This record gives sequence, structure tokens and C-alpha cells, in this order.
Amino acid sequence: SMKPSSIVAGLAAVAVAIQGVRLVAHGETNLLRPPGTHGEQDFLSRCIKCGKCIEACAFAALSPANGNTGFAVGTPTIDARAQACRLCEDFPCQAACPTGALRGVVQRNDVRMGTAVIDEDLCIAFQGLRCEVCYRTCPLIDEAIRIDYRMREGDAIHAVFAPVIVQDSCVGCGLCVQRCVVGEPEVAIRIVGDEGGPQAGDVGG
Ligand code: SF4
Ligand code: SF4
Ligand code: SF4
Repeated sequence: SMKPSSIVAGLAAVAVAIQGVRLVAHGETNLLRPPGTHGEQDFLSRCIKCGKCIEACAFAALSPANGNTGFAVGTPTIDARAQACRLCEDFPCQAACPTGALRGVVQRNDVRMGTAVIDEDLCIAFQGLRCEVCYRTCPLIDEAIRIDYRMREGDAIHAVFAPVIVQDSCVGCGLCVQRCVVGEPEVAIRIVGDEGGPQAGDVGG
């Protein structure tokens, strides 16, 4: 007969499985997608997992989602920390997509992959060190990310040069995530989904 502990474990596994089904049913995953998606639900309904976008990406930023991603397995995804999207001016990934799962991007500012968020407790710039790596690496420098010069609290002499994300202009390419000097396990910057955009919540980094 089943021990209570294994029954509890079994119920927990069922709950996890149900949760997975619910997330997929709502088209919500936490995967960072290539440029040109229009919400995760729209994307999942159109992507036929042909891999043409993955082949087209000269930076090898795209790889098929692995077996833990349920219905999304095989769809193109980006691990920003490993290899972020370079926002190619001609978007070969989108051009290669035969179904319109990736579509509508004419210029870089049209991209809506998500938005970068800086963790001010982890970012060394907020502790008073000069860094600016994320700022200098951003393809939309001074548009999507700026350096905010401010005095340190309780310190009249030393200034802080703080990177600040401009939410409306950041497209979520993840290059800042890839280059962040703060190491594993926690990077000081990550990408979250835009509300009403590609995904809501954490999508990588
Ligand atoms: S825009 Fe360029 S780097 Fe980004 S996913 Fe598409 S092909 Fe790859
Ligand atoms: S090219 Fe389009 S349909 Fe094919 S895997 Fe990529 S997003 Fe999906
Ligand atoms: S994700 Fe980072 S690098 Fe990309 S546009 Fe936003 S701030 Fe710039």
C-alpha cells in the first residue's frame, strides 16, 4: 500500500502536471523568443517547429526548446546569458519563417521580446563601482539604456553612475544580460515579458 508521503508526492506531481497544462493552454511560457513574435499564444499557434529561423541565425542565438517545455518543445528560444540576439538589421530569422509566426518587424524598435530589468542590489554600479558594460553593449545605447548620474546616499563626494532601462525603448534583445559582469547564479540584469506583449513575467536571463 502507498505511504502517506508517497501519496503527497504523487499529488504534488499531478499538481505540477496540471499547472503545466494550464500554462500551455494559456499560451504562457517563460521562454525568450526571437524578434517578431506577437504574444506567446499567437506564436505557439503558428510555429510549426521547422527550425528555419534557427538555421538562419548567423549568431547561433536560437535553439529548439527542450523536452521540459511541453507543447513548446522544438520552438525557437534564446538563452540570453549564453548567446543573446544581436538585432540584425535585416532580421534573417523572421525572413526565414514560412508561417508568419515571426512577422511585422521592419526596424529594431519594432521588436518586442521583453524588457530588461536591473537588480539594484546585485548591480555593482549601484554599489558605487564604475561598470557600464550593459550600457555600452546595448544596440540601442542611450535609447533603451542610459546612465543616470547621481550622488551616493550619505556620501557627498562619490557619485553613482547607474544604468537605467528606458522601458518603452528596450526591446529585450538580452545582450546586456549576456555581458553583465555579475556572475552566476544570479545575473544583475534579466529580461521580463512585456505586459500585453510577448510574455508576461520572467523570460530569461
Ligand atoms: S535578429 Fe539576428 S541574432 Fe537575433 S535571432 Fe534573428 S537572426 Fe539571430
Ligand atoms: S521559422 Fe517560423 S515556423 Fe519555423 S521554427 Fe522558426 S518560428 Fe517556427
Ligand atoms: S535588452 Fe538590454 S541590450 Fe537589449 S535593448 Fe534592452 S537594454 Fe539594450
